Amino acid sequence: MSSVLDLFRLDGKVAIVTGASSGFGVAIAEALAQAGAEVALGARRADLLAQTRDKVLASGRRAVAVPTDVSDPAACQAFVDVALAELGRVDVLINNAGVGAAVPALRESPEEFQAVLDVNLSGPYWMAQSAARAMTAGGAIVNVSSIAAIGSLGLPQAAYSASKAGLIGLTRDLAQQWTGRRGIRVNAVLPGIFETEMTSAWFAEKFDEQLPRIPAGRGGTPAELAATVLFLASDAASYITGQTLVVDGGRTIL
Ligand code: NAP
Repeated sequence: MSSVLDLFRLDGKVAIVTGASSGFGVAIAEALAQAGAEVALGARRADLLAQTRDKVLASGRRAVAVPTDVSDPAACQAFVDVALAELGRVDVLINNAGVGAAVPALRESPEEFQAVLDVNLSGPYWMAQSAARAMTAGGAIVNVSSIAAIGSLGLPQAAYSASKAGLIGLTRDLAQQWTGRRGIRVNAVLPGIFETEMTSAWFAEKFDEQLPRIPAGRGGTPAELAATVLFLASDAASYITGQTLVVDGGRTIL
């Protein structure tokens, strides 16, 4: 007899995870593999990527590590090609790679602004294009945006906030293009405050100021974000598309 819990499984599916060398990407890769997926892992730092691959292999699932810079469209296509060749299919894409930047707007150069958009907004689009061409009906894309798309934490983050807000627009448009025609759902998660490589310096200095404004009374853990990503990637979310799911312990309700 089938159980509702089966809907959260990804057995027989192949998932691509970008930004899998640290932070959320490692937790997401582990969670998808625990749910039964084979995973293709991308990021620039090959040594750390290999560590994530070895963790997945140790859990009994197949995995490939593909050093990739998502700001390069050709590299995104090559990443998807390797996933297809090595693992046989593509069912899920998690667009998690991202860079943080805090530069006062009056001082930010065109190059600095563009560099953030290239990774955080264009990168997910190139990955989605390449992956969607390979996916069949039942596929799912999850974009990792941020609560910075809908509010401010008081940092000078024009490029970051714009890129993450743009990712919400991208999510909605790809959902309307691909859900009906191709059977591919596209959703976004908006994480709040989590301690990872990206935020560790800020955490040490500023987290205590934020704490009274987080109803949950703590920062999130990468495993909590990964569980939400798994939900949206799985058939448990089969009737959800074009949506944004905030994962922030309540930070944005205050
Ligand atoms: P992280 O540990 O710094 O991870 C960022 C990942 O993105 C790394 O694996 C990095 O790998 C990869 N990456 C960066 N530039 C890349 C590029 N050009 N090509 C391919 N991969 C690239 O930070 P994180 O917190 O886990 O961030 C993951 C995602 O969550 C990001 O999109 C971030 O904006 C978002 N987010 C985080 C928080 C938070 O509180 N931590 C909150 C909201 C949203 P390489 O350096 O090896 O390439």
